[in-house]
Amino acid sequence: MKKTMAQAFFGGVHPNDMKAATNEKAIEQLAPPAEVVIPMSMHFGAPCTPLVKAGDHVKVGQKIGEFHGLGAPIHASVSGTVKVVEPRPYSMGGNMMSVVIENDFQNELSEEVKAPADPDALTAEEMVEAIKNAGIVGMGGATFPTHAKISSAIGKVDTVIINGAECEPYITGDHRTMLERPEEIIGGATYLAKMFGVDRVVIGVEDNKQNGIDAMNKVIAEKKAPVVVEPLRCRYPQGGEKQLCQAITGKQVPPGGLPAAIGCAVFNINTTCAIFRAITQGMPVVNKIVTVSGSGVVEPKNLECPIGTPFSCLFDACGGLNDKTYKLIAGGPMMGMAQYTADVSVGKGTGAVLAFCENEEQTVEHPQCIRCGKCVAACPMHLEPLFMYQYASKNMLDELNDAHIMDCMECGACAYVCPARVHLTHMFKTGKQKLKDKMAADRAAAEAKKAAEEKKEAANK
Ligand code: SF4
Ligand code: SF4
Repeated sequence: MKKTMAQAFFGGVHPNDMKAATNEKAIEQLAPPAEVVIPMSMHFGAPCTPLVKAGDHVKVGQKIGEFHGLGAPIHASVSGTVKVVEPRPYSMGGNMMSVVIENDFQNELSEEVKAPADPDALTAEEMVEAIKNAGIVGMGGATFPTHAKISSAIGKVDTVIINGAECEPYITGDHRTMLERPEEIIGGATYLAKMFGVDRVVIGVEDNKQNGIDAMNKVIAEKKAPVVVEPLRCRYPQGGEKQLCQAITGKQVPPGGLPAAIGCAVFNINTTCAIFRAITQGMPVVNKIVTVSGSGVVEPKNLECPIGTPFSCLFDACGGLNDKTYKLIAGGPMMGMAQYTADVSVGKGTGAVLAFCENEEQTVEHPQCIRCGKCVAACPMHLEPLFMYQYASKNMLDELNDAHIMDCMECGACAYVCPARVHLTHMFKTGKQKLKDKMAADRAAAEAKKAAEEKKEAANK
């Protein structure tokens, strides 16, 4: 079914996009940092096991972390000497085992990085293998391993979507990529069409990036690529996978389901570029484009830096932080994670690093819900945030489960519209974790009970 730009999803909000600070600034290459700190978890799944130890010499693109089960390998982003392998502060919270590499500034490429003789002759399986070896994950922040997403969806998917919505305020890395690297996006999308055996791939882009849409359309026409660009109305969270699928296909992903349930697979713009580089050059994910912005940043920029670059190096390259800087966030202002230090480093899913001054802090110490219902109207997942908040704050976990909290995508739209400034999203993050812990404990108790019964039964025989 052909959709027009009017196609929409339920709920959502219209925050000021705040993109003007960086959307006309070309991507700059960061001067190589003296040291990178590469966390062994930059993907959905268990952390990688480090393959190197202190004193080892490593080259760019060399595998330094191996995954087990669901995951993706991790590669050195600079050449140099491994200084230490130890837990370091982590942008997703707490500490994470990390490989610290002292840069020798030689930028030596590993012999492990090999381009295939003829990328266009690769089979779908060979392309998926190249994507796996390159350690590609959802670069928009979801960090789900891309090889696992593709191999589990081949044969079940008829609509492949590239997510160019970039709906979070401040972030402009995908927009700049559309303008500066449209060949990589269209090339990656063409390989995805081949892998999935579909006639065309749809790139969904919010209509505040018209020059990005034009740049990609030009390449599509030149290459006669099996790709179409679909402009979308600006509305947060347009870039949520389920909302994007609905805007493009008119179909809704069922509660608790994935896009594959309605025949869709969604990939981020920079994930698509990474797919192109993996298939054509054998190049793993070693760099990331990061928007550094917010009222606390002296000169906001889009920077491309090695994975593992400390946030402090990014701020230094942007003229430093204003004296009144109060808050640091990894990611966008709606879904990002607040940081207590600038000593954390850029991971594969880090799309932005934001700093805000004190006068933008609008939290309320003891917020009281006034039952206005605005959060219900804003929730794109049809949830009832005001009730979920009550259940979560009172540890009513069964009620929280019945209220479908696990469908909450933590988009922050409810918190954005709440006039009482109730800490909704924060409460849902912790509520979901408590529920996951309870489910795991219930499962363990049920297994222990079953084992005890079996033992008793065996003893009675
Ligand atoms: S954070 Fe969760 S509850 Fe709030 S609007 Fe987003 S999906 Fe709905
Ligand atoms: S928007 Fe805020 S104040 Fe209004 S019902 Fe929801 S939680 Fe309560």
